[in-house]
Amino acid sequence: MASKTKPIIALAGNPNSGKSSLFNQLTGLRQKIGNFPGVTVDKKSGTFRLDAATEATVVDLPGVYSLYPQSLDERVVIDILANPAHEDYPEVVVVVVDASNLKRNLLLFTEIADLGLPVVLALNMLDVAQNMQLQVNATKLAMQTGVPVVRINARTGEGLELLRQAVRQVLEKPVLSQKVYFDPAHHVPELIAEVKQKCDLANNNLALHYLHQHGIFSFISTEKRVVLDELIEKHGFDLPDFQAEETINRYQKIDGIVKATVTAPAVVQAPVWTKRLDQILLHPLWGYTVFLLVLLVIFQAVFLLAQYPMDVIDGGVAALTDWLKATLPPSALTNLLTDGLLAGIGGVVIFIPQIAFLFLLISILEESGYMARVMVIMDRLMRKFGLNGRSVVPLISGVACAVPAMMSARSISNYKERLITILVTPLMSCAARLPIFTILIALVMPPTPVVGFINWQGITLLGLYALGLASALLSAWALKGFIKTEDKGYFIMEMPTYKWPRWYHVGISIWESVKAFVLEAGKIIVAISIILWVLASYGPGDSMERAEQNLRQTQPALTGQAFDNAVAAQKLENSYAGRFGKFIEPAIAPLGYDWKIGIALLTSFAAREVFVGTISTIYSIGSDAGEENSTIKKRLKAEVNAKTGKPVYSTATAFSLLIFYVFAMMCMSTLATAYRETHGWKWPAVQFFYMTGLAYLLAFLTYQGLK
Ligand code: GDP
Ligand code: MG
Repeated sequence: MASKTKPIIALAGNPNSGKSSLFNQLTGLRQKIGNFPGVTVDKKSGTFRLDAATEATVVDLPGVYSLYPQSLDERVVIDILANPAHEDYPEVVVVVVDASNLKRNLLLFTEIADLGLPVVLALNMLDVAQNMQLQVNATKLAMQTGVPVVRINARTGEGLELLRQAVRQVLEKPVLSQKVYFDPAHHVPELIAEVKQKCDLANNNLALHYLHQHGIFSFISTEKRVVLDELIEKHGFDLPDFQAEETINRYQKIDGIVKATVTAPAVVQAPVWTKRLDQILLHPLWGYTVFLLVLLVIFQAVFLLAQYPMDVIDGGVAALTDWLKATLPPSALTNLLTDGLLAGIGGVVIFIPQIAFLFLLISILEESGYMARVMVIMDRLMRKFGLNGRSVVPLISGVACAVPAMMSARSISNYKERLITILVTPLMSCAARLPIFTILIALVMPPTPVVGFINWQGITLLGLYALGLASALLSAWALKGFIKTEDKGYFIMEMPTYKWPRWYHVGISIWESVKAFVLEAGKIIVAISIILWVLASYGPGDSMERAEQNLRQTQPALTGQAFDNAVAAQKLENSYAGRFGKFIEPAIAPLGYDWKIGIALLTSFAAREVFVGTISTIYSIGSDAGEENSTIKKRLKAEVNAKTGKPVYSTATAFSLLIFYVFAMMCMSTLATAYRETHGWKWPAVQFFYMTGLAYLLAFLTYQGLK
């Protein structure tokens, strides 16, 4: 929590004006991501030194074009700036403006200045303006606006020292802009006077925001809301009309300022090579082709490159586990440490390479300006499904792993579209489902070639992936109608020029995402791992010990590894997890599953790849130890249902399981990530139930249809 002993500096500005760059420059690594109280919006705050004695807290506000919010994220800004009691209410607002687009950027500035807040104008993107042959005169701008204006370059950090000084001066002696850009009291004097009196306000524009936005202010009472509604009624105040008039008035003033400060060449043009590149990258055919190639590279890179560090981590955790088991005395505590805690931590760390690689590539795309083009070419298509041009990256990355994929939805600024993207991404079949798919397909589909080297097994696998994609798009389309937000979903998107990525910014983006995952989703993953370990290792009473004794008596012929395997299988059967499997058997029988599959369903919640391991343990009774998959396959084939006398893994059951795993929300890391990304349990719960429900229903239909 930001302590009020440090002055709070808020960074405000339009999207892409350079706020976050400035924020990174000011705070370096002394930053943290939290969320604004009461809302599910990421809040980046950090500390920076004003001088030797003073530190300040900097808060990076969501980017907005105006104080009238278009989306939930944007509400945060007015909710803070209109509420002096808010913990993030700033002493100084640094308004970051894009000098190459001064007119549009100054709208927000005039609104904030009119609230009576001390403002420093940070004039950014001067190099871009320069390239467009725009000259912006900072001194004149300061004279016109009456607030300190500092020329900065948020990319390189130029001008930071001057900004620091300006902020310090304003903190010591707040200079308020004498100028009022729009005074509602000139238009509706009685109404404004009444609002000020009833709500105890001193500022006319603040009173106006109370009139417009009391419905969404988090800090005012219902009684006040009623009073304000009555005032609006009484004065016949037309909100949209008045807002339109306000905007026109503000732009008239801004036009004057821009005329006095900016000298422009006759025609403004983007750099030639930006235009040439855009001709290809926005081309109706080549644009998609290039994008497809870029996606392919990203996907392959995340898939392949991350494999090496992941193998190292996997091997490392395994080695550490073995070492601990060999060194520590064999006890329940040792097992908890190795099979519970260490396995859980391993399950968290294993995701780091994928997250890091994905964010490395994505932030390069963002930084270079290419992502804005992707947005443009994909947006129309994705919007039909309630998604967004930027949803393509999470969806495609979901084929590797849903965890980094859901996190990459952060770049979507529209709350509803981001939420839908997060909710449907796990429907894309992730890599961890592959072992399940392959083993089950091998069991029931013949490897007979269809054309060339393509056989029925390959076609089935492809079909499962296609099913995942289709269901993700369809669910998005269906969710579109259910999720209510007041997002207006319209955006002003201007093409940034192409730039070299700044590696520092890329690095911070990777670091932040890894940190958020490890610290927040990681906690939950470790906790659930331990719970699952307990469920699979313990049973009620002394049933576990009896299981082992029982086996000694009934199968005296077993020795060595075969005996150990049989014991493990017996223990699993008698554990809480085993009992759970038997308990849910009636519910899963209509899908064609027995209690053994029930256990596998439960344990594969830890990670889907555990399915194969569990199945191999549980079917190990009486079989020889050793070779993995081939024997598993034989074992599965040989498994007979005790009641019906038919094979358990019939075509119907295998397909029912395949369908189940296409749809089920079966991995706690995904769930934990959804929790972290939506800041609550509501959406992960919705996701869990709708996906598992869908999985159940479709698996049921599959089994009953094929049986
Ligand atoms: P935010 O949306 O306001 O947080 O903006 P960002 O800090 O993410 O910046 C948007 C883009 O503008 C990034 O690609 C930055 O690298 C780039 N950028 C920021 N400041 C400058 C600047 O002064 N000059 C140039 N050329 N680019 C900048
Ligand atoms: Mg930003």
